[in-house]
Amino acid sequence: MIYKSRSESAELLILNALNKRMSLTEKDKQHYLVLRKGYEGEVLFDSMTEKLECQCLILNDLLLRINHTVFQIDALMITSDTVHIFEVKNFEGDYYYEDDKLYLTNKKEVTNPLPQLSRSETLLRQLLHHLGYHSPINGKVVFINPEFSLFQAPLGKPLILPTQVKRFLNRVNNSPSKLNGKHKLLAEKLKSLHLTESPYQQLPSYSYDEVRKGMICDRCNSFEVIVEGKRCICGDCGGEEKLSEALLRTIEVFKLLFPERKINTNEFYYWCNEAVSKERIRRFLKKNLNMVGIHQWAFFE
Ligand SMILES: [Zn+2]
Repeated sequence: MIYKSRSESAELLILNALNKRMSLTEKDKQHYLVLRKGYEGEVLFDSMTEKLECQCLILNDLLLRINHTVFQIDALMITSDTVHIFEVKNFEGDYYYEDDKLYLTNKKEVTNPLPQLSRSETLLRQLLHHLGYHSPINGKVVFINPEFSLFQAPLGKPLILPTQVKRFLNRVNNSPSKLNGKHKLLAEKLKSLHLTESPYQQLPSYSYDEVRKGMICDRCNSFEVIVEGKRCICGDCGGEEKLSEALLRTIEVFKLLFPERKINTNEFYYWCNEAVSKERIRRFLKKNLNMVGIHQWAFFE
C-alpha cells in the first residue's frame, strides 16, 4: 500500500510555470525537461507498485538527512524482512555499459546511477541504525522506459531493465510478507523525516516584470483566454473551463512564483492581465483566501 505519495517538486512546478511565462535559457530548459522526464518515469513506476497486493508500505520520493548529508530516494518499500529502495531512470534510446560507465551509443557518457544508488543505500543504512532498525536494504536501479536498451548490461549488478520490471514486482508480490507495528512505525518515522525543501534546487533568477501575466488555457497553454460569464474559453483550442477553477490555478501559480508578494484585488487583477473585472476578483479572493488586515491595507493569504 502507498504510505507516502509523490507529487511534483516545487522546483518542477516553478520551472513548468516559468517555461510558459518567459523564455528560459537553453540550459534551464534542458534542466526542466530532464526533471519532467524523470518525474514521468517515477509516476509510471508508481502506477506499477501501487498494484502490489502483498503486505508492504511504499514511500515515494523521500528526501532525508543523516549527519548533515542529504540524500534522496525515488521509492522505498518496506516488506517484513527487507527495505527495498529504487532509483528510477526514465532513459530512452540505446546505451552501453563499459568499465563501470554508462554511455549513449554515440559514446557520450551519462551519469551511472549505480554509485548514486550505493550512496543512498549507505546513508539509509546509517539512518536506520540510528533509528534502531537493522533490516537489510536491497537497492535497485530501475530503467522504466520501454524504449530503453542497454548493451553489455553487466550481470550481477542491481539493475532492473524495462522487460524485467513486471517480473521483479511479481516476485516481490509473491514473497510472503507479514508486517507488524514496528514496520508501520518505521514508515511513519521516515515520512516525518522527509525534507520538503531540496538543497539541490536549480532555479533561474526571475523577476515579476519578466514574467508574462495572464490566464493560461489548461489544455494548450495559450494565453488567448476569454472570460464569458462563469466560463473561460480558449481562443486557440476552444477548450472551456469554469472561471473559478481557472482563477484558482492562476492564483496558485502566482503564490508559487512570488511567495513574498502580498495578494490583494489590484495585484491579482493585473496578474490576470485585466481579463476579469476587479469586482469579480475581489469576490473570488474573499471566497477562496483568508483576508488579513482591513480596508485598503487588507491582503489575502
Ligand atoms: Zn487552449
